[in-house]
Amino acid sequence: MSTRHFTEPAKKHLGQHFLHDRRIIDMIVQAVDPKPGDRLVEIGPGQGAITFPLLDRHGELTVIEFDRDLIFPLTDAARAHGTLEVIHRDVLSVDFSAIARNSGAGEGPAVDGKIRLVGNLPYNLSSPILFHALDHAAAIRDMVFMLQKEVVDRMAAGPGSKVYGRLGVMLQAYCHVTPLFDVPPAAFKPPPKVDSAVVRLVPRAPETIGVKDPAMFTAVVRDAFGQRRKTLRNALSKLCDAAAIEAVGVRPDARAEQIEVADFVRLANSLAAAPAGTDRA
Ligand code: SAM
Repeated sequence: MSTRHFTEPAKKHLGQHFLHDRRIIDMIVQAVDPKPGDRLVEIGPGQGAITFPLLDRHGELTVIEFDRDLIFPLTDAARAHGTLEVIHRDVLSVDFSAIARNSGAGEGPAVDGKIRLVGNLPYNLSSPILFHALDHAAAIRDMVFMLQKEVVDRMAAGPGSKVYGRLGVMLQAYCHVTPLFDVPPAAFKPPPKVDSAVVRLVPRAPETIGVKDPAMFTAVVRDAFGQRRKTLRNALSKLCDAAAIEAVGVRPDARAEQIEVADFVRLANSLAAAPAGTDRA
């Protein structure tokens, strides 16, 4: 891939850190390992560091890029590699489920009707992009994302870890989260100030998720970790009383950081199932 097409300097406000380490790029492509019929969608293709190797392997790809200055050079350079569909939008306004329903850059829709997301994400938008993807989890087969290592650590953390919190519980309730490998700042131009890591997320089958009322689950997890030093009894006082917590086998004097994801799911389901008008607190 030639960079002669790209003349604009990297834009800090768009989180632009372009990958240039061939070995890391190959490891990402290997982690995606596209198969015939896969419907690949890349978030933030930038100057095409992952885009062109994926196109060389797979022949077709849809990309979502917000920076207008990158659209023409990207499209121009892509001609030598395969069929590229460019969606020039803010990824947070893109309906992944609609993309999954439509046919792709080249052939028809994916065999299982789901897309596979890939991206070296703009770090300032990591969490919003992850939560946006969760909203469309039923249309996504898997995601391979590069993020700040600190965020990947939080996504994968379990009870007892200092970094176990809202992000990890919310993601793990809906997805299998597997950190793959770390990436040093020197792999990017310009180098970010922090270490990065690549992670794989695989949405759980809908029948195994278990969350009955997503709004209640979100509220329980948000309040539980709102003040992580508080006991659950105090942190959740707006939603329920100690008896309701105890009723699902969880100690009201425990702190959120000690509670398993499955316990949060059970508690939220039990609160959601309480008859309308019940005074839960
Ligand atoms: N994939 C390229 C690479 O690995 O070199 C670029 C990665 S760079 C970290 C993040 C990319 O996301 C940039 O191309 C940036 O313009 C794009 N981006 C930033 N905010 C975006 C948004 N809201 N929607 C879509 N793309 C965005």
